[in-house]
Formats: sequence, C-alpha cells, structure tokens
Amino acid sequence: SQPINCEPLKALVRGVPDFPKPGILFYDITTLLKDQTGFAQLIDAFAQYYIDKHVDLVLGIEARGFIFGPALAYRLNAGFVPVRKPGKLPAETATIKYDLEYGSDSLQIHKDAIQPGQRVIIVDDLLATGGTMLATTQLVKQLGGEIVGLTVAIELDFLKGRAKFPDMDVFSLMHYD
Ligand code: AMP
Repeated sequence: SQPINCEPLKALVRGVPDFPKPGILFYDITTLLKDQTGFAQLIDAFAQYYIDKHVDLVLGIEARGFIFGPALAYRLNAGFVPVRKPGKLPAETATIKYDLEYGSDSLQIHKDAIQPGQRVIIVDDLLATGGTMLATTQLVKQLGGEIVGLTVAIELDFLKGRAKFPDMDVFSLMHYD
C-alpha cells in the first residue's frame, strides 16, 4: 500500500491565531471536512492503515472525534463508541478525571461499551499534549479493551504528546511544529 501524500490535506486545514485565547494557534478542520475529496482522502488513509489490524471498535473523543470516528468505523466494519463529556451518557458509566493546564476535566464511557479483549482504536482530530488521549486510554484499560492504536488527523510535534505513549502505536497524518 502507498504512503499518502499529506501536503494537499495540510493545505485544507485552517490555522486560526488567538483562538480560543491569545497565543493559541487553533487548527480548524472544518475547511478540510467540507472539501469533498479531502475528507474522503483522510478517512481512506486511516482505513488503509488499520484495514488488516482486526479492529473491533473505534472510540471517538467528543466532539471532533465524533466526526472522523464513525466514518472510519464504517470503513473497517467496526463498531463506534462515543467517549463523552460528563453527564451526557444515559446508562452506567466509567469516569476518568485528568489535569489541564488550569484545572481538570473528565471523560466518560458506557461501562458495557467494550467487552474484555476487544480490539480498540481511539480517534480524535488532534494530539497536543496528549492528556485527553491518555485519559481515554485509561478508560479503555479499565474496561479491559486491547488498544491497537491511537489515531489523529493532526499531531503538534513540538508538544511531544507522543512521548506519553511509549508502548503504543500512534498514527497521525499531518504534523505541525
Ligand atoms: P491535548 O489533551 O493537550 O492533547 O489536547 C487535545 C484536545 O484538545 C483535542 O481534542 C483537540 O481537539 C484540542 N486541541 C488542543 N490544541 C488544539 C489546537 N491547537 N487546535 C485545535 N484543537 C486543539
């Protein structure tokens, strides 16, 4: 299988300075999503990477993981599981609290969303410090899932989020420094 050329995809991502606060360069994927070939190329590239890896479940992290995750799950003949902000999931949940630069946040998953031993990938739009992804891996471990890989469209290399996952496969399509 061919490695895909990510430069055309990168050209579709919009950098918005000072959002949501001064000093942050926000990588806006809506400009890629609305592109008819760009979105398909992105999902195809993810699917090509995982198609032979026997993925049972694709977990998407709220909110932008809910855009890529289901499209990828469909392509892999896998199920989709939402990982959500607190108070949104109706049945019994497992919760993980994680630290932010200022304060903390939590994520939840339905306790019966993963059967022990099921092969899982976790999808989000972007890996920054890796805190959100790390918390999600801890939820998967609580439920006994086997993590096949971590998947993001964009990785901010200079934040070294990848270093939080020394023994996991992290797949990202676009890199920024
Ligand atoms: P982190 O937990 O630091 O890896 O942050 C990752 C989460 O925050 C992802 O869900 C991203 O959507 C969001 N995020 C962090 N930094 C940015 C950024 N510069 N542009 C867009 N989204 C970001």
